[in-house]
Amino acid sequence: MSLANETLASLRRRLAAREISPADIIRDLAAAIEAKNPSVGAYLSWDVDAAVTEAEQTDTSLPLGGVPIAIKDNINVTGQPCTCGSKILAENYRSPYDATSIRQLRAGGALPFGRLNMDEFAMGSSTENSALGVTRNPWDLDRIPGGSSGGSASSVASATAIAALGSDTGGSIRQPAALCGVVGVKPTYGRVSRFGLVAFASSLDQIGTLTKTVEDSALVLNHLCGHDPLDSTSLNEPVPDFAAALGRDIKGLRIGLPKEYFISGIHPAVADAVRAAIKTLESLGARVEEISLPHTDAGVSTYYILAPAEASANLARFDGVRYGHRTANATDILDHYFSSRAEGFGPEVKRRILLGTYVLSSGYYDAYYLKAQRARTLIRRDFEEAFQKVDVIVSPTAPSPAHKMGELKNNPLQAYLEDVFTIPANLAGLPAMSVPSGFAEEGGKKLPVGIQIIGKALDEVTMLRVAHAFEQASGLSHLAP
Ligand code: GLN
Repeated sequence: MSLANETLASLRRRLAAREISPADIIRDLAAAIEAKNPSVGAYLSWDVDAAVTEAEQTDTSLPLGGVPIAIKDNINVTGQPCTCGSKILAENYRSPYDATSIRQLRAGGALPFGRLNMDEFAMGSSTENSALGVTRNPWDLDRIPGGSSGGSASSVASATAIAALGSDTGGSIRQPAALCGVVGVKPTYGRVSRFGLVAFASSLDQIGTLTKTVEDSALVLNHLCGHDPLDSTSLNEPVPDFAAALGRDIKGLRIGLPKEYFISGIHPAVADAVRAAIKTLESLGARVEEISLPHTDAGVSTYYILAPAEASANLARFDGVRYGHRTANATDILDHYFSSRAEGFGPEVKRRILLGTYVLSSGYYDAYYLKAQRARTLIRRDFEEAFQKVDVIVSPTAPSPAHKMGELKNNPLQAYLEDVFTIPANLAGLPAMSVPSGFAEEGGKKLPVGIQIIGKALDEVTMLRVAHAFEQASGLSHLAP
C-alpha cells in the first residue's frame, strides 16, 4: 500500500521503527499527486526534489520527524509561492520568510510539502473563487470540495496528503472538512500565531488542521499552538498535550444542542446524521440537553459586515507597488492603482472590498460596522451563558452535503447563508471542529456529512476528547472515497 494512504500516527510508528524513511513518504505522495491531481486539483504546486532533499535531513527522533504536511496557499513558506488563489500574487510573489506556524511545525520535525488551492484570499465556501484552478470533491468529481480550504480538505480525502494546514475565518476549515469526510479543527482564536498567514479578517482568522483522524489533528496541534510575540493577538497560555488527552471516556460530560441550529432547511441526511451522532454520544454516557443561543440569526449578517470591513483594509497592500500584479499600461499614478487592482482581483474579492469600504464609510459606520460589533458581543455572551451549563456544543457543520459545481456560483447570498453554523464560533473566538458523522446519498454517490463540536475558549482538550470518543464509537474514521 502507498504510504500516502496512511495516517500521521501510523507513519510516525513506522518511521520510529526505521521501516520507512521520510523520503519514501515524499516519493509515495508525489506519485499519488501525479496520479490524482489532474482530476482532483487540490495542489497548485509541489516541489518533489526540494522536499526529498529536506526529508533526507530531517531528524526522525522529533515528534513529527519526517512527516510531510501540505499547506494552504495563504501561509508563507520560505522560497515557495503564496498565491492566495489570486492572480494578483501568482506572477511574482515568493515568500521571503516562514510563517510562525511553519517554523513551529519544522521545530517538531515536520516538512511543509506542497501548496493547496483555495478560494481567492479565503473568500468563499466552494474553492470556485480560486483564480488558479478547479478543485473537486474526491467523493464525486462533479461536486465542490467546500472552501475556502478546499484544496486542504480534498488533498487529505483523496490521500494525496497525510495532513494539511488550512485557515478558518468563518468556517473555512470545518465546512470543507465536513464536505470531504475528514477531520477539521479551528483552535481558539489566538492559539496559533497568525504571523505569516495572509490576513483576510484579522479578528476572525485562525490557522488549523485537516487530517484523516482526530488523533492526527491532536498530534499536529501540539506543535502548531503556542505564544508568538510577532502576533499581538497570540495568547500566552500553556499548551496542553492534546494527543495525550484522547481516549478518556466522556461519561457524565454535558453536551448542549442549540435549538436555533436545528432550523428548517437542513438537508434530511444532515439532520439524520446529527441525530444518530447524538444517540452515539448518549450511549457513551454523555448527558445531552437543549440550550439556546438566541442571537444565532444575527451571525451571518454580522460576519458579512465585519469580515469585509477588515478585508477592505487588509487588502489595501495589494496595489502593484508594495505587493502584487502591476498593470502594464497605466497613464498616471491613480490609474496605476485602479488598473492593477482591477486586473488582479477576482469578482468575489471585489464584492467584499466594496461591501467593506461601504460599511466603514462616514455616515454608514454607525449603522453597519458599529452595530455589527454590538451584535458580535451579544453572540459571544450567548456562548458564555450556554457554557455555564454544558461542556461542549454539538451541531451540524454545514446545512447540506457538497453541492454540484456551479450550483451557487451566481448566488452569493445563498452561499453566504451556508456558513450559518460555523460563523458564530469565529465571532466568539471559540475552538470548533468538524468530524465525519455519516453520509448522504445523492445520484448514486455517497457524500460525507459532518458534525461540529464547539468547545469553551482554550478548552480544545474536551472538544477533541468528545470528537475522538465519537470517532471511535462510530467507526467513521480515516474515510476514503
Ligand atoms: N465562507 C466564508 C466566507 O466566504 C468563510 C471563509 C473563511 O473562513 N475563510 O467568508
